[in-house]
Amino acid sequence: MPKKRDSAAELIPDRPTLPRVRDAAKDCHACDLWKRGTQTVFGEGGKSPRMILVGEQPGDAEDLAGHPFVGPAGKLLDRALADAGIDRRSVYVTNVVKHFKWEPRGKRRIHKKPNAAEISACRPWLDTEIALVNPRVVVCLGATAAQALIGPKFKVTTGRGEFVPSALAPFVIATVHPSSILRAPDEETRHEEMKRFTADLRKAARALSSS
Ligand code: SF4
Repeated sequence: MPKKRDSAAELIPDRPTLPRVRDAAKDCHACDLWKRGTQTVFGEGGKSPRMILVGEQPGDAEDLAGHPFVGPAGKLLDRALADAGIDRRSVYVTNVVKHFKWEPRGKRRIHKKPNAAEISACRPWLDTEIALVNPRVVVCLGATAAQALIGPKFKVTTGRGEFVPSALAPFVIATVHPSSILRAPDEETRHEEMKRFTADLRKAARALSSS
């Protein structure tokens, strides 16, 4: 008989703090993604962050570094945050899923979208992060985060940039994932998408300063 796998919820320490929970997540085997990823990539942020940004999953660079949003999409996010007047060091960044899901293509590791079972298995880590950070503003980056946190029918294309009522925080908003901007077909589209992304983040920043 295969050994019963611990759910992520069972691994959360009794008196959780972010460092303790981050430590516990290193040994998570609650879904199969740990077998492919180099390491668990837990969320990170500054001291007492009031805003949390949630993406889908770590990418290739994050998987190797062990830190969220440090690859090309992370650099684009940094630029947009700065343009929106948000100091990256003052926010908490994390992902719905904490291991990199990928498939090989030649020598490259290509991002593969996490499925519903993996998202659900990883959810206790995200819920604990949100509870401990207790943010004023939650920003969902992309469809996976928005559908996990706002609702399965939520569409980023039509619902982006608008605050939605939620028990998660006083202000919850969704926008695109910065990696989608990197995939823009040409420079002009990329420029336009970056402007819209920055405008969505600026709205989140205004909510923060008004509260
Ligand atoms: S993806 Fe999440 S649930 Fe799956 S093994 Fe990694 S930390 Fe655990």
